[in-house]
Amino acid sequence: MTFQALVIDKDDAGYRAEVRPLANDDLPEGDVTVGVQYSTINYKDGLAITGKAPVVRKFPLVAGIDFSGVVQHSTNDRWHPGDRVVLNGWGVGETHGGGLAQLARVKGEWLVALPDGLSARQAMAIGTAGYTAMLCVLALEKHGVAPGDGDVLVTGANGGVGSVAIALLAGLGYRVVASTGRLGEGEYLQRLGAAEVIDRAELSAPGKPLAKERWAGVVDSVGSHTLANACASTRYRGVVAACGLAQGMDFPATVAPFILRGITLCGIDSVMAPVAVRQEAWTRLARDLDLARLDAMTREIGLREAVDAGREILEGKVRGRLVVDVSR
Ligand code: NDP
Repeated sequence: MTFQALVIDKDDAGYRAEVRPLANDDLPEGDVTVGVQYSTINYKDGLAITGKAPVVRKFPLVAGIDFSGVVQHSTNDRWHPGDRVVLNGWGVGETHGGGLAQLARVKGEWLVALPDGLSARQAMAIGTAGYTAMLCVLALEKHGVAPGDGDVLVTGANGGVGSVAIALLAGLGYRVVASTGRLGEGEYLQRLGAAEVIDRAELSAPGKPLAKERWAGVVDSVGSHTLANACASTRYRGVVAACGLAQGMDFPATVAPFILRGITLCGIDSVMAPVAVRQEAWTRLARDLDLARLDAMTREIGLREAVDAGREILEGKVRGRLVVDVSR
């Protein structure tokens, strides 16, 4: 039995990504084998496919940091053939064979049951980007940001995290301000629920330690000066959820917003998040995300198009989410 997989190799011939057949014996260790139906292209998959950052740390390795599908075989008490599951992170697609393949083998403790109301395709249209957006929204809520408190800024608005964050926040009744470098996509962002669209240039250059108070909350997938300026313009006791580095990994800020305005900066990690947090996030996604808006931000590709898509996402050319049908 063979199956198709997007494999990353690094050897004397260089770093490369290609779709090729693998055998069952090539699957990594694990107590649950999943027939993968869908995977996605997240920013991190782009880094892994191109080798632009050392995401993949074992070669050869199947790429793909997330997948949805159906359990085929299990020696784990919790999972049985036919169970619908979703996986995000845990080093899958980094040090353990990943989801951009027709079969995956993982530890049962890494899996989350797909909530009723979400199909395997919708789960991967959400993907790690959307699940991370939900973690950001949960962080804002847990720190007391409520709809009606004021504007919530979403940076990297046209990206995967940004698009899902806008749809979620708008659906929950927050007034969302979307920051983007692609102002031509303003109509798309408004369709997702943005009340206002601003040019990311307003936030991306070096700024002052404190600026006019604007945001009750922020979901930032960009980092660098954008995150520093977002903090500087967050209102008294406001909350910033930081999850990404699309502009840069640096954080050139001062302590002024923290000690003078009492703002809270929440770090968001999706990869090693505890199972209970994942379950909460997926339950909330099934409940709160408008599936028509999810559909409006999703484009489907086949496994064979995934290598090119990995390049495109790093070039900022992808709008919203890319879902990968691994059967084609
Ligand atoms: P996308 O590429 O889909 O989105 C990133 C968006 O950021 C782009 O669409 C663009 O939006 C904006 N952007 C790109 N380059 C720049 C730049 N130089 N300056 C300012 N803005 C820029 O990626 P994802 O949504 O999948 O991921 C976003 C970030 O979140 C990544 O850094 C990723 O690594 C991180 N992430 C972190 C996770 C975690 O566990 N902490 C999990 C998932 C993602 P626009 O065109 O609208 O300006």
